[in-house]
Amino acid sequence: MSWLWINGEVMHVSFIYLVLTFTIREAAYQCLVLIHQAGVNHCDFNLNNILFFSGGGVRVIDFSEAVEHDCPGPDCYELCWARDILELPPN
Ligand SMILES: [Zn+2]
Repeated sequence: MSWLWINGEVMHVSFIYLVLTFTIREAAYQCLVLIHQAGVNHCDFNLNNILFFSGGGVRVIDFSEAVEHDCPGPDCYELCWARDILELPPN
């Protein structure tokens, strides 16, 4: 179970459900999948490093920790982590 720290209060991450639709959360995940398929492990994927645009666009930012990566696919640790923090069902 994940938690967010917002304005000095701890809130359950289900706050994401109130703000982000499944489609937008899935788009963020697919963005990370493309990054992995390009051979990059972000290494700092979290909600602070995702930009969500009002039109539904998604951008992953801050590659300061990124490393080269030969992605094993859906079982990849970071991809599984991403599904968890985006509160998407496991692959
Ligand atoms: Zn990977």
